[in-house]
Amino acid sequence: MVNGFEALEIRDFSQINASVVRFVHQKTGAELYYITNDDTDRVFDLTFRTESPDDTGIPHVFEHAILNGSEKYPSRQLYDNLEYQTYNTFMNGYTYNRYSTYPVASLSEAQLLKLADFFTDSCFHPLVMEDESIFRTEAWRYRLNDPNDPLTIEGTVYSEMLGRRSVERNSYLNALGVMFPGTTLGNEHGGDPYHIPELTWEAVKDYHEKYYHPSNCIAYLYGRFEDYAAFLKLLDGYFSEYDKKEFTHTESGYEPITEPVVESFSFPVEKGSNTEHASIIYYAFICPGLKEDREQELILNTLTDLLNDDASVLHQSFREALPYGDLHCYIELYGPDDAVGFVARNVDPGDAEVFRQVVDKALADTAEKGFPADQVDSVMTSMSLSALQAREVCDPVEKVVLPKVDYDVSSIEPWNYEDFEDSLTLMDKWNEQGLYVKAISDWLVGNQSTALVTT
Ligand SMILES: [Zn+2]
Repeated sequence: MVNGFEALEIRDFSQINASVVRFVHQKTGAELYYITNDDTDRVFDLTFRTESPDDTGIPHVFEHAILNGSEKYPSRQLYDNLEYQTYNTFMNGYTYNRYSTYPVASLSEAQLLKLADFFTDSCFHPLVMEDESIFRTEAWRYRLNDPNDPLTIEGTVYSEMLGRRSVERNSYLNALGVMFPGTTLGNEHGGDPYHIPELTWEAVKDYHEKYYHPSNCIAYLYGRFEDYAAFLKLLDGYFSEYDKKEFTHTESGYEPITEPVVESFSFPVEKGSNTEHASIIYYAFICPGLKEDREQELILNTLTDLLNDDASVLHQSFREALPYGDLHCYIELYGPDDAVGFVARNVDPGDAEVFRQVVDKALADTAEKGFPADQVDSVMTSMSLSALQAREVCDPVEKVVLPKVDYDVSSIEPWNYEDFEDSLTLMDKWNEQGLYVKAISDWLVGNQSTALVTT
């Protein structure tokens, strides 16, 4: 036990010369990962699993509002002062489909402790709960300069999202909505400017009550600390005000697809824009049960890297069929089920069926012939190398902490990110054992739960 936290497990994270200790806060169940190595660029992060009930962008508005002062630090200017007048190397808040995360990094341990206090108080006691003007500044408000002028809307998030809406972002959310019907995954967590003005201050306050609770929090510490226990003491001080609460995050409205689904969405562009080769097509295989099988999940995850190799059969046949397009393959872990997705960019709506056939045929061929050993070797070597170089770019937030956060929030069991990093050395063995070929046959070839989504 360390300051209210119980150390449950410890594990090596050799790629970054670290050990990782997993703590759980006794009173509330909050998790904490202490990633300890000799890096003096130290990171503190708080992450909350969040959902977007609609397209009003609540998580994003809240992320902005939170950095506008708190009970203990009641200044709307303080965040900017801290950002530009301290030794911090990173300070930000991020909103994604499934979580909101607040990383801060500093070369000074003493200063990081102060910044951690500021971030933690901001998350748990933000001023926006009492001050509607913060909501109006960050979300949206009407403006009328002169009685004869048209009434306009402005607001930080509103303006930001006017610039952020893109076919790239929309196509991904459209695909998620079709892949996981009845869930909130396809909602625009950043906020759709058409819907942001439907957002109320009350909804933002309710959202804070619902999600910003220690039992729904994962905290991270990364780097070399003289006194890491001081950070646990700080968190224990905040967390202990709360009682444990149950958070499940299951999507009760989810109705899994059981047969091939085809859908198209339009995306408005400025008059006169060239729309040739400007569409994006997702072709995804939903894989029920994969989330519960860690080894198979890792095999399919690394399989997408093999398929992404330029020399793969898939890439070769894609280039022949759709020479103007770009192809990318990925594993989708955010959903209630995992999925393997293929994305064609710079293509046309009429290419959807061709794209499906190219993927289906390449998968069937690969299931029959397998991957050549030298191809697997080269992908494995380059991925292991980039894992080893994670520390060389001196950006522990983006290279270590945020990727780990992303895996942690998407997994039922802990250690998914560490397992993934370790699996990079197993790829040649898995290939020799025929596990990739088997996984393609078991999960992808003949799978009827597919979504083909054109935007
Ligand atoms: Zn923003």
